[in-house]
Amino acid sequence: MTSAERPVSAPLFEDLPGDISVSFEFFPPKTEKMEEQLWDAITQLAPLAPSFVSVTYGAGGSTRERTHSTVSRLVRETDLVPAAHLTCVGASKDEIAEIADQYWEAGVRHIVALRGDPPPAHGGIFTPHPEGYTGAADLVSGLKARHDFDISVAAYPEIHPEALSANADLDNLKRKLDAGANRAITQFFFSTDAYFRFLDKALAAGITAPILPGIMPVTSFAAIRRMSGNTEIPGWLERMFEGLDDRPGPRALVAAVAAADLCRRLYQGGVRDFHFYTLNRAEQAYAICQLLGLRPKAES
Ligand SMILES: Cc1cc2nc3c(=O)[nH]c(=O)nc-3n(C[C@H](O)[C@H](O)[C@H](O)COP(=O)(O)OP(=O)(O)OC[C@H]3O[C@@H](n4cnc5c(N)ncnc54)[C@H](O)[C@@H]3O)c2cc1C
Repeated sequence: MTSAERPVSAPLFEDLPGDISVSFEFFPPKTEKMEEQLWDAITQLAPLAPSFVSVTYGAGGSTRERTHSTVSRLVRETDLVPAAHLTCVGASKDEIAEIADQYWEAGVRHIVALRGDPPPAHGGIFTPHPEGYTGAADLVSGLKARHDFDISVAAYPEIHPEALSANADLDNLKRKLDAGANRAITQFFFSTDAYFRFLDKALAAGITAPILPGIMPVTSFAAIRRMSGNTEIPGWLERMFEGLDDRPGPRALVAAVAAADLCRRLYQGGVRDFHFYTLNRAEQAYAICQLLGLRPKAES
């Protein structure tokens, strides 16, 4: 039944069976307090048995050590499958090989391979390191040649801002997958139409690898606007957050409901894999999973 056919009286999340697979993205903490918050989030979300948990890499490689230590701790102290984000910015191929070797030796088998954005201080324009990788497709080839990593790459339902065209961006995604990546994770979006149109185009271009929707519960509308790139922010969503700038509690609740509804509509369209940008907080991601019918697995 499509949304339009549902009777108005039907509960939105009625009896969703939870036959979904989820993954969670975190960022490496800067301070001890943030570290506590991150591990609290990981501990709360772990019972949902995510297929992997990923840890981002700061702009320009600025979190190299912190990403590594967070991912290593995940390997040492949890049963979760960690995925380390890695970018091409400011590093030679040899330096990246060294990082990749360290991950492999630490037992990390999943890399999220990205071109990355240079820090704003460098003008925000990506220039490859003279002895570095030219972009994510090139990085995937380099990583694959070194170790048999499971590799995820980025995809953009509403087109990467620097892409020459939608088709050129799709060709680039295909190159990343042909170079050995196993799946793509999308930039966040708010339009299910944009996502499903993108899946159709990808399939028509011969892309059969999974393309996981990246779900971002809105924690700060200003931040969403700053990070949105080409992502359209619908007027109705903006109006939903009117007057909530200084009300973090209600804002978080509204954001969880809006993101859960997005996931419900994706689920109705056949999506069963969801990737959550958690911003190191468990509550919203957990609540959304709960509404989708997912329940904690028995503790191992
Ligand atoms: C799921 C996800 C996780 C992310 N995690 C991080 C992170 O941890 N750290 C971080 O710094 N950033 C992260 N980013 C942001 C990402 O680094 C930026 O969006 C960056 O600008 C592009 O990275 P990419 O891997 O998509 O680049 P690429 O796939 O290399 O593409 C970059 C641009 O170049 C174009 N392009 C590539 N090759 C060609 C070609 N041959 N001809 C013409 N055009 C070409 C593409 O169309 C695109 O516009 C993440 C993004 C996503 C969606």
